[in-house]
Amino acid sequence: NRRHQVVIIGGGTAGITVAASLLRRRPGLDVAIVEPSGQHYYQPAFTLVGGGTYALDNTRRAIRDVVPKGATLVQAAVTAFDPDENAVQLDDGQRLGYSQLVVAPGIKLDWGRVEGLEATLGKNGVCSNYSPETVRYTWQCLDGFTGGNAIFTQPPPPLKCAGAPQKIAYLAADHFKQKGISNNSTLKFYSGGGALFSVPAFVPPLERVAKRHGVEVLLSHDLVAVDGERKVATFETQNAEGEKTRVEQPFDLLHVTPHQCAPDFISQSALANAGGWVEVDKGTTQHVRYPNVFSLGDASSLPTSKTAAAVRKQAPVTVKNLLAEIDGKALTAQYDGYTSCPLVTDYGRVMIAEFIYDGVVTPTLPLDPFKETRFYWVVKKHLLPAFYWKQMLTGREWDIAHKPRKTS
Ligand code: FAD
Repeated sequence: NRRHQVVIIGGGTAGITVAASLLRRRPGLDVAIVEPSGQHYYQPAFTLVGGGTYALDNTRRAIRDVVPKGATLVQAAVTAFDPDENAVQLDDGQRLGYSQLVVAPGIKLDWGRVEGLEATLGKNGVCSNYSPETVRYTWQCLDGFTGGNAIFTQPPPPLKCAGAPQKIAYLAADHFKQKGISNNSTLKFYSGGGALFSVPAFVPPLERVAKRHGVEVLLSHDLVAVDGERKVATFETQNAEGEKTRVEQPFDLLHVTPHQCAPDFISQSALANAGGWVEVDKGTTQHVRYPNVFSLGDASSLPTSKTAAAVRKQAPVTVKNLLAEIDGKALTAQYDGYTSCPLVTDYGRVMIAEFIYDGVVTPTLPLDPFKETRFYWVVKKHLLPAFYWKQMLTGREWDIAHKPRKTS
């Protein structure tokens, strides 16, 4: 049986950031990353790829190129946990032992939840920014659109980057305007959730953006079926009495954000909470039952909006506390729930929603957080990707303090 001091499950945003930061702070530490994929993606740029303004190739690196020097890459998937024996089971039949475990396998995209979706995704005008396999087809659909019904969906929570389903609707509207086809286009945004955004302070500015673009917003409408041949999407909605009804919506373009949930091997494990997520303390990121286990990112129970920006603030907390745990010291680092969602509202303008636990708005820079600016577009398209590859994934911390700000 193989064994490493620290085993990290997932070579995504959280796994690589934690590995790099651990080795930067403690060179020589025996760290292994378990990752089945040969690629690592900068997913936040998928929105821009779908909008035809960013190359998919620029979102991707070979996994070997992002694994930090000194870490061991184990190319396999974890299938089960044995936390009482400090070991995980791999899909190649091996077991991997550890002293400390970091669990960061991300969120599961549950395409199968919508009847007929898998059979038609990538054709018949049915596209999605949520997968590198389907994101380029989004742009084909937007650019080839000549008018008719353009429909955009968002599942009920949980989902990663809760702003992403809206962003592509605004880019589409802007693109149709530039093509001069706005007058014969109908744009509708159907959300399975009960609000346009989780933080109430951002709802009015986003409602204004939707209105400006002529995007009709329909809340509490959950996509349940897609008929690609007939080009009809079916949504389930509830009236005030809780009575469920189904509505059919014909489409010419359908951008789907898939339903999402915790990965099965997590939700079926001893590490999970009732919702299926790795059950950690919301401040320290340490597991509530197994002190040598930590979790962060989309698969964790941290009660904040699931983004790469959140991982940026979680990773240093996990790393400091994990090293303290190794050293037998008290865990002092605390995560405040920081997360951020750059809301692309036009080609050339972005509003950045930054907030901590309880929806307290905390802009990093002294700018109006509810204003769309060209500067934030440059941040989103150019500065954040460069920062991601050069600073975050190499474990260099970047801690501009943000001040909580009253939103009332
Ligand atoms: P991931 O980065 O998804 O990594 C998980 C890794 O675990 C993957 O490499 C996977 O292959 C691996 N894995 C899975 N199963 C196993 C297993 N069984 N064993 C071992 N490894 C496994 N965030 C922002 O901050 N800003 C944005 O603007 C933004 N926009 C987004 C737009 C879109 C369309 C999408 C899809 C995401 C967006 N995000 C954004 C969200 C962001 O990408 C995620 O929140 C972030 O990547 C989470 O990091 P993670 O490490 O938890 O998961």
